[in-house]
Amino acid sequence: MRFDILTLFPDMVERVLGESVIGRACKSGAIEVNVLNLRDWSRDKHRRVDDTTYGGGMGMLIAAPVVTEACDKLLAAAPELNTHVVYMSPGGRVLNHDTAVRLSGYDRLIIICGHYEGVDSRALKLTGAEEISIGDYVLTGGELPACILTDCVSRLCPGVLSADECHENESIASGMVEYPQYTRPAEYRGLEVPEVLKNGNHRDIARWRSEAAFSLTKSMRPELLGIEYLLEDEK
Ligand code: SAM
Repeated sequence: MRFDILTLFPDMVERVLGESVIGRACKSGAIEVNVLNLRDWSRDKHRRVDDTTYGGGMGMLIAAPVVTEACDKLLAAAPELNTHVVYMSPGGRVLNHDTAVRLSGYDRLIIICGHYEGVDSRALKLTGAEEISIGDYVLTGGELPACILTDCVSRLCPGVLSADECHENESIASGMVEYPQYTRPAEYRGLEVPEVLKNGNHRDIARWRSEAAFSLTKSMRPELLGIEYLLEDEK
């Protein structure tokens, strides 16, 4: 799968995605990440990409031609790819596992990072961008959201995770919060690892994990089980 990320701050995105699992996946060719500077599509001799907003108000907006022409060029350069355009936006649908699964079905995502006040709305209409938020708060730019989207979609792509990092048993993907996990030492500051995890009986361990996952999900994320949050004294 290929990710083309359009941003005014390419170093920020490259640094985050160049590390760890995603960095390794890029090197092995399991995914391809291209980070492109929106200023390269500026029509201005000073490489300006933004302007004041019609109707007044504070802040600058990234101009429609910059974003639209960047997307046009990327689409024209690889028309054979099944491509989806995404704009990282606090006003979009909030990202979740199902969205990540859906997006992992494309050959390529073009991800637009806003900055300042955001992007001229016509660019979103012309590119058919889907707006995706990473949560109900506002950040200064779309770079970190784009890295988050790239990370969670990449984990679902073949060859990105090793067999022992399989995503299917993890929180949310499994439909529940993951059970508590422990490593050595067996006792730390008076806290013992549950005995069942040390006895080597795989059936008992599987039962313990499933019950622990259910009870954690019920207290931390009851909506995953279709239950509404319980008030403190109802738990
Ligand atoms: N004026 C915009 C609004 O009220 O919706 C906010 C602009 S925000 C300061 C600058 C950029 O950061 C946005 O264009 C978007 O790309 C990104 N951004 C901020 N919060 C985000 C969030 N929760 N999810 C995804 N992107 C976000």
